[in-house]
Amino acid sequence: MSIERYAIIGDIHANWDALEAVLADAESRGVTDYVCVGDIVGYNADPVRCLEKIQSMDCVVVKGNHDHYCSNDMPLHDFHPDAGSVVAWTRDQLSAEQMQYLRDLPLVSRFAGVTVVHSTLDMPDKWGYVFDPLEADAHFSYQTTPCCVYGHTHVPVVFERQHSVVRHAFTRVKVTLGRRYFINVGSVGQPRDRDPRAAYTIYEPKARTFELIRVTYDIARAQARIREAKLPDRLAQRLSLGK
Ligand code: ZN
Repeated sequence: MSIERYAIIGDIHANWDALEAVLADAESRGVTDYVCVGDIVGYNADPVRCLEKIQSMDCVVVKGNHDHYCSNDMPLHDFHPDAGSVVAWTRDQLSAEQMQYLRDLPLVSRFAGVTVVHSTLDMPDKWGYVFDPLEADAHFSYQTTPCCVYGHTHVPVVFERQHSVVRHAFTRVKVTLGRRYFINVGSVGQPRDRDPRAAYTIYEPKARTFELIRVTYDIARAQARIREAKLPDRLAQRLSLGK
């Protein structure tokens, strides 16, 4: 029997080229299961293809804020113009069934003893951003499992709580019993840590390790699709900057 090895992916944001590269990479590393921390759609040009792929994988998925915005008809006037125009465009691409699928996604889920949320367990439907230990501390008061994975900021990072909360960048984390971990798995489709490569994280329950993986993909092709769809050019430009 193969060792259980989970690929935790998220913030795909309709970037098919990045998703395809990440899934191929995960397969080559012997990944047995997949988990998605949300934001399948929004920003990039392939919402339908990305959504169909995730649905076909039949894995644990939680709802991201863009999954939420793109699957209901709330007004968009509070949005940044670039973000609002993509949400409107994405709504036009999705079928009624696909919107229903996104609406029905849970805000919080669990796999192999690990909690999954898009933003934070501290009011997950308010989509708060966790960038610093103070924000992570508010989250930790709701975390009942040793580890919780999330996305939303598109910046891979680990918050570790022992006596206090510390924040560190990671490539590999070994879980120490008695401590709590809140781990941002990085973004597949729109990394914002100035590394334009797609990011995801592999969790191996037996070894109790989380490993951050970076994958090169055809950024030029993803940008061409954005321009072809006539989405805001800034969304294409930011992919090569990783921000
Ligand atoms: Zn996102």
